[in-house]
Amino acid sequence: MRIGVLGGGQLGRMLALAGYPLGHVFTFLDPAPDACAGQVGDLIVAAYDDAEGLGELAARSDVVTYEFENVPESAAEQVVGEVPLWPPPQALGAAQDRLAEKRLFASVGLAVAPYEAVSEAADLERAVARVGVPCLLKTRRQGYDGKGQVRIDDPGDAADAFRSLGEVPCLLETVVPFERELSLLAVRSTTGESAFYPLIENHHRRGILRLSLAPAPAVPDALQRHAESVATHLLDSLGYVGVVAIEMFEADGELLGNEMAPRVHNSGHYSIEGAVTSQFENHVRAVTGAPPGPTAPTGPAIMVNLIGEVPDVDALLAIPGLHLHLYGKGARPGRKLGHVTLCGDPATLGRGVDTLRRLVPDLPPVDVRA
Ligand code: AMP
Repeated sequence: MRIGVLGGGQLGRMLALAGYPLGHVFTFLDPAPDACAGQVGDLIVAAYDDAEGLGELAARSDVVTYEFENVPESAAEQVVGEVPLWPPPQALGAAQDRLAEKRLFASVGLAVAPYEAVSEAADLERAVARVGVPCLLKTRRQGYDGKGQVRIDDPGDAADAFRSLGEVPCLLETVVPFERELSLLAVRSTTGESAFYPLIENHHRRGILRLSLAPAPAVPDALQRHAESVATHLLDSLGYVGVVAIEMFEADGELLGNEMAPRVHNSGHYSIEGAVTSQFENHVRAVTGAPPGPTAPTGPAIMVNLIGEVPDVDALLAIPGLHLHLYGKGARPGRKLGHVTLCGDPATLGRGVDTLRRLVPDLPPVDVRA
């Protein structure tokens, strides 16, 4: 099939790399002429709300999908009028607004941290009194990778925090003293069949994902089952097709929903080598009407993002069990330029992480031999 993708970043690029063996071809739409997916498919350079560009994408596609969740509503509507768009637009609506997202989580049985909506400065005092400190003020829209949020430790700082975020509609939520961060990747096809990957353990640095362990170590069966159960309800309630990622905190043995991404997700990059079917292939299968492939892990895996700079490639490739993925993007501080996935037995992973630690700055401590 001809697959159109809104967004031409690394996620789109890896979708194409997974989709070509299945016989599909890819066209991307991205405002950046050097969008890295353009190296592996046709690229239409246009703004996401450019009616002409969207029309061209639809005309050149049998199905359209997206690789980022801030697709404008008007763009989604235009595409839907011309060609199937998956995941469905209602998933975008939920993922673009933290308040809608929290309500969706609650409605499917996924607990969330205590929160209050803050629409204007006058709401602040009551919200801080209810939620308590420490808390986080987050913009309802356009937040990602830790951007658009401010921590408040003293109620007297709330007004400044709100001003620093531009006094846009926000959500105030408790700082969760979590044990760890987990994500669940689920996939559902137009055929109605769904599948779930094992929970993944995620470690962030300055709000950006740095490292994932997959499967997350020491996950009780009941926790995995609960995550799959809420994901099933979520897929059903949205009439979902494609891969979805649900990011959660584990606190006191319970799961609290943080946010969802209606797309393939950075924490699932391990699945290219670390699962029987990668998240990218499964997303492509789902939106093209094929059943999902098996999601079982092939063994333990560790994914490390390469952010801002790429370490010496020869040194990386000399690490046993390491797989390198470079995205073809120019170096810039804070930019995700690639990732590596280590696969193998715990001893191989342990040695690999020790070597990686010398090559990649600021790796979080993880006990992979556990
Ligand atoms: P977000 O943009 O909501 O994904 O937040 C980025 C990161 O900030 C998360 O991955 C967490 O590490 C941290 N974070 C977000 N919300 C909370 C919270 N309520 N309590 C503690 N840490 C949080």
